[in-house]
Amino acid sequence: MTRSHLLTSLRKSARAFSTTSAIRSGGSSATTPALGFQLSEDQLSVQGAARQFVRDVIIPAAPHHDKTGEYPVDIIKQAWELGLVNCHIPTEYGGLGFGVFDSALVSEQLAYGCTGIQTAIEANTLAEAPVILAANDAQKKKYLGRMSEEPLMAAYCVTEPGAGSDVAGAKTTAVKKGDKWVVNGQKMWITNGGKANWYFLLAKTDPAANAGKAFTGFIVDGNSPGITVGRKEWNMGQRASDTRGITFEDVEVPDENRLGEVGQGFKIAMGAFDITRPLVASAAVGLAQRAMDEASAYALQRKTMGKQIIEHQAVAFMLADMAINIEASRMMVWRAAWLRDQNQRNTYYASIAKALASETANKCASDAVQIFGGNGFNCDYPVEKLMRDAKIFTIYEGTSQIQRLIISRAVADTAKQSL
Ligand SMILES: Cc1cc2nc3c(=O)[nH]c(=O)nc-3n(C[C@H](O)[C@H](O)[C@H](O)COP(=O)(O)OP(=O)(O)OC[C@H]3O[C@@H](n4cnc5c(N)ncnc54)[C@H](O)[C@@H]3O)c2cc1C
Repeated sequence: MTRSHLLTSLRKSARAFSTTSAIRSGGSSATTPALGFQLSEDQLSVQGAARQFVRDVIIPAAPHHDKTGEYPVDIIKQAWELGLVNCHIPTEYGGLGFGVFDSALVSEQLAYGCTGIQTAIEANTLAEAPVILAANDAQKKKYLGRMSEEPLMAAYCVTEPGAGSDVAGAKTTAVKKGDKWVVNGQKMWITNGGKANWYFLLAKTDPAANAGKAFTGFIVDGNSPGITVGRKEWNMGQRASDTRGITFEDVEVPDENRLGEVGQGFKIAMGAFDITRPLVASAAVGLAQRAMDEASAYALQRKTMGKQIIEHQAVAFMLADMAINIEASRMMVWRAAWLRDQNQRNTYYASIAKALASETANKCASDAVQIFGGNGFNCDYPVEKLMRDAKIFTIYEGTSQIQRLIISRAVADTAKQSL
């Protein structure tokens, strides 16, 4: 399927989770939205195209990129040609205009192949989300438009060496000088940091204000003088992805690259997560599914004590637990994504999906290693990589603890309202 085929498919696609058909009950004029779990033909075909690409291209190449840490330039280019990168960019800026739901179908498939490669691709989505949320038309044309024209990468620059969960503690500053802003500070753990054509940057513009008003978001060109890109970090897993520290030293950013109003940056940077957390969660589901598929195939062929190990209930139940958690996680991803596509607040569900799916990925990968026995601990078998790759899902885009903070605050708010 080509990029234009995908585009055509999606444009005529009727949403699977349609709320448009209503039923009348008891003669009342009230309507109840129908709910379905069947993907449309177009969604199935997009999912199928992604799955095929993963089988043909990503899975064979993944071990090489894991071992060497080589950035998967050619794979990203091919994925971009197919329309599997930046698929959520609105059609008026050259993208496919996918909603979060359709994007989640793609990211689950890509992650099935290799979450390192998928994270490199998904980091574009994270950088683009604040632009989609807050940029004006000229900014979108310039920065989203170029992502549709060429296979470029972008990065989301928020975390600092001293501030990850505590975004409000970020110290990078932007000071207005004439029609420019001068940026100074250090960012850390930036995915695509060394590959980005442009960065979404969160900087403090009013140190005296509270977090809700202290920060402003900017788009910063990657080749701006004063930017120093750090070394590629050698991480536990997802090694195909490029993670770096970035230093900004007297970097001049034109005021026309400011996103939204001065002081709105925190809201914009956090608002992006309503779009991207369901996608991170769907990637975790993809990894978990891969772990289950690898483990069940192995359990069918490995024999101990005269039978296939899948015949031992202890092993079979590990697989059953994987299935339970994967199905539940996928449903939470779909709910969080669908709500967002209906323009409904999804923060609570996005956090539940992210926490559940990332912990599912870790449990499934760890149990897959267990089912492989000694072979599972060895790098010639596929599951040790899954276990290393899975860990980051409980850390980036908000740790599992931070998701529980968000969820528990919502629970407390609801409880207070019912008093
Ligand atoms: C591979 C990788 C890629 C990344 N990509 C990006 C990127 O592209 N852009 C970007 O901006 N950032 C990125 N990050 C940063 C990532 O989002 C942060 O590492 C993460 O948010 C955690 O922040 P921290 O590392 O400062 O840990 P800390 O915030 O110091 O947390 C340490 C521990 O304390 C817990 N903790 C902290 N505060 C609380 C609290 N209030 N309540 C309960 N527990 C708490 C945490 O859950 C964690 O267990 C990436 C990180 C990695 C490792």
